[in-house]
Amino acid sequence: MPKSDKRLKVTLACEECKRRNYITMKNKVNDRDRIEMKKYCRWDKRHTLHKETR
Ligand SMILES: [Zn+2]
Repeated sequence: MPKSDKRLKVTLACEECKRRNYITMKNKVNDRDRIEMKKYCRWDKRHTLHKETR
């Protein structure tokens, strides 16, 4: 089994403009649901909710 098995690369997309602004890692064990976080969107020029995409 590779060491990275429990780490998953996820893309975070802005809920406002739907642009994919961030790539982050999540832990499969701790974050089984889709992750959401407030992050700065440079297209909207403010903090917006970013959600995991697939
Ligand atoms: Zn945006």
